[in-house]
Amino acid sequence: MVSEKKFKPKFPLTEKERKLLSLVDTNEEEITDLLQKLVQIESLNLSEFQYWDNREIFKYTKKIMEETGLKTEMFEVPFISKKKNEFYYNLIASLEGSAKGKTLQFNGHLDIVPYNKDNWDEETPPIGGVIKDGKLYGRGSIDMKAGIACQIMAMKLLKESGEKFKGKLQMWFTPDEETHGAYGSAYMTKHHLEAINADATIISEPSIWHPLASPNIGMGEKGPHWLKFTFYGVAGHGSWPKEKSNAINKATRFMVNAKRKLKIPKRKPPITKWQSLKQLIARVGFTGYREMRKFKPEKLPLDKDKRDSGILYRTTYSFNDIKAGIKTNIIPDKCDLDVDFRTMPGLKSQELFDSLVKYCSKLKYRIELPEGYTNLQHDDSRFKDKPVDVDLSILTIGEGSATNPNSEFGKVIRNAFTAVYETSPIFSYGTGFSDGGNMREAGMKDIFVFGPGGRNAHNANEYADLSTLKDITKLYLLIAYRYLNS
Ligand SMILES: [Zn+2]
Repeated sequence: MVSEKKFKPKFPLTEKERKLLSLVDTNEEEITDLLQKLVQIESLNLSEFQYWDNREIFKYTKKIMEETGLKTEMFEVPFISKKKNEFYYNLIASLEGSAKGKTLQFNGHLDIVPYNKDNWDEETPPIGGVIKDGKLYGRGSIDMKAGIACQIMAMKLLKESGEKFKGKLQMWFTPDEETHGAYGSAYMTKHHLEAINADATIISEPSIWHPLASPNIGMGEKGPHWLKFTFYGVAGHGSWPKEKSNAINKATRFMVNAKRKLKIPKRKPPITKWQSLKQLIARVGFTGYREMRKFKPEKLPLDKDKRDSGILYRTTYSFNDIKAGIKTNIIPDKCDLDVDFRTMPGLKSQELFDSLVKYCSKLKYRIELPEGYTNLQHDDSRFKDKPVDVDLSILTIGEGSATNPNSEFGKVIRNAFTAVYETSPIFSYGTGFSDGGNMREAGMKDIFVFGPGGRNAHNANEYADLSTLKDITKLYLLIAYRYLNS
């Protein structure tokens, strides 16, 4: 573990706050117990199109929130099958203050990704919640039932402390972040925005970078554009090869030329490389920074790629799924290629599509876009009477987004963070999706992502590091107390 430099907080804990936070120390065991219970209820998310009944975990969560004396509301979201007994829940639990004021929202997803039991150690099974050497093992332990347990405890302790505050603290549990929120964040922002449109939101996804011990504050994320390109060719006998109309050849040309010829507009990152470096050095010092640079994750012999932090600062793409062909001696007339684009915050989907259309024009491919988007080729006479070479369809789409860390709420987080951890905060943004993307897209403000630490999210032997839970719970509690009294 890299040691972190101590830092004098600008707004240190008051005596009252110290007493409030000491409740977390006395209830530490309960956080672990709660996490264990949540891990022991299997709440799989198989896919957006495959139903898995996860009602048990929502009913359990509702029960604990009600036992704490919070008001709850369940929203039923119909599954795509429209079968009566197939639906998902969103749960909102709320705690009202003693006067009118702002609403602060906690948020977490209760779903977990599937697992292959054979890859897990026998003594730490995926749905076991086994505790060993200060770690709690299980699928979903760190992503993200640990963060949820901490937020539930922070709410509970604020209630039990009897401390006065204004406005409202609410927690929103979603069912399907792992498949981008079709029944959770995307659905609720579209159909029940009034219920979740808080003044500020904290999502408790894990955010501790190994080998650090305290979290970084996520203030934004890149936008997933999962696109399917269907290339069309002409079938024929394999003994008479076709160079230009073999659908696999067409897709190959598209892939190999992209690096040189596909020009996606650049965007200024929400936080520059230099700002990130400055924040990191403020936290760990030069020695710590040198130590961190020495840290090398295990690498497989076939892995020839260097770790490149530069990907954070540009839109990226990866060719991840390709299907074509029916038989060795038949030229394929169709080839499906799935590409995972991750766009920079500030880049519009239409701008990405424009660059793909321009690229296809360079390759002399006529491309069709999904409905609702402008296609630059439609004004280009060269492609007017040509048959379509490639169809683009959308698998998942969301634009990148970021929250201003210098907002009023950003400052509350910054000051609470330094008061709890006595080290300086690091604001950052991520390459992956969180429910925050859908919330920002719906116009919700002040959304930050930070939570406890652990490792192997989505991998075998996933665990939550129990030593990080207490401080995160304190941080949530202090932020709620200060923000709702400001
Ligand atoms: Zn997650």
